[in-house]
Amino acid sequence: MTEAKKLPVHTPMSQFPVEGDELIVGGQPLSRLAARVGSTPFYAYDRGLLKARVAQLRSVLPREVKLHYAMKANPMPAVVSLMASMVDGIDVASAGELQVALDAGADPAEVSFAGPGKRDAELRQAVAAGVLVNVESERELPVLAAASQALGVPARVALRVNPDFELKGSGMKMGGGAKQFGIDAESLPEVLRHIASMGLAFEGFHLFAGSQNLRAESICEAQQKSYELALRLAEHAPSAIKFLNLGGGFGIPYFPGEHPLELEPIGANLRYLVERARGDLPQAHLVIELGRYLVGEAGIYVTRIVDRKVSRGQVFLVADGGLNHHLSVSGNFGQVIRKNYPVTVGTKAGHSAREISSVVGPLCTPLDLLADKMELPVAEVGDLVVVFQSGAYGRSASPQDFLGHPHCTEVLT
Ligand SMILES: *Cc1c(COP(=O)(O)O)cnc(C)c1O
Repeated sequence: MTEAKKLPVHTPMSQFPVEGDELIVGGQPLSRLAARVGSTPFYAYDRGLLKARVAQLRSVLPREVKLHYAMKANPMPAVVSLMASMVDGIDVASAGELQVALDAGADPAEVSFAGPGKRDAELRQAVAAGVLVNVESERELPVLAAASQALGVPARVALRVNPDFELKGSGMKMGGGAKQFGIDAESLPEVLRHIASMGLAFEGFHLFAGSQNLRAESICEAQQKSYELALRLAEHAPSAIKFLNLGGGFGIPYFPGEHPLELEPIGANLRYLVERARGDLPQAHLVIELGRYLVGEAGIYVTRIVDRKVSRGQVFLVADGGLNHHLSVSGNFGQVIRKNYPVTVGTKAGHSAREISSVVGPLCTPLDLLADKMELPVAEVGDLVVVFQSGAYGRSASPQDFLGHPHCTEVLT
């Protein structure tokens, strides 16, 4: 008996329905939305899906855990405003992001500022704004102390811990071993001894072990270990822990064979930790900070086909945008081996006529590849190609000036 080998496939992108021929985005057929936007390429973020994602998380996570949005995933001001109205806090990673978060109406009491290499001016801005600074380096402490003195308000600080473990199976590791992030766990007792005399308002710890993880058990393990480590460090703290940020790392399925993260075990694990914290750290709020999990699946990138070519039997759909707007779909944003994102032809999504084709962008480099030999609806010049899972690390993480094509627009719909 010959066994047909099953190739891994993409998780169905059922968050965007198909009616007739077309993909429906924010309640509208894609061609109508494109007419409303007025030009391609563009990113579209679906408001209903963003709301649904927050509601889904709230239904699984314990009420006591604060949900923060890490806005580097998608800093579009309209998206940040919407998120700020739904989550408990915003995490920023630069003074520029801080400005957007405050403009969006985020409560400074619930904003935290992480990131290596904070400039003195940025630290001073954070103190003036009254946000929590997640300290990444001992160098930041005297700068914050000087700003506190000058402004007459003690800087609110949490210490970012570089833990002595890693988040297993993570796309990007951001803790454990030698890292530019945080202060090594073993150096922290000494730092905590001095912090009380510096005129700073110490509030707690920040741990962020990694990103893009699809394994619930790895995330639970990292949360447990983070909690244990914070508890050991708390013995050296000058005052009670008010704030314990256990990080995030929740991933979304991008590539064939990847499956959505199971939230239930994570919810159960956090309920257990909330229960323990009630006894161990009675004043502490537990926080998780999520970027791509909140916004990634609600966004698409849309680009129009300007040419259809056949080269030695292979079909190429040449689109009006590519890696200049969407670096990660080309495989050049942290991937080791390029794999295809889920892609369709949004104006022909309901068509049964399909063929193997490659979608490329207009840049003069073979790296500008949106889909490599995928089975797609048969498409013509004028059709709209859609890249799913594009709500995070899209426009703002791409080299828009490379090759001088027009920048893309963004809509929240
Ligand atoms: C990037 C980052 C996040 C968001 O990561 P996602 O994978 O988008 O969830 C959260 N916290 C910190 C400290 C980060 O650097």
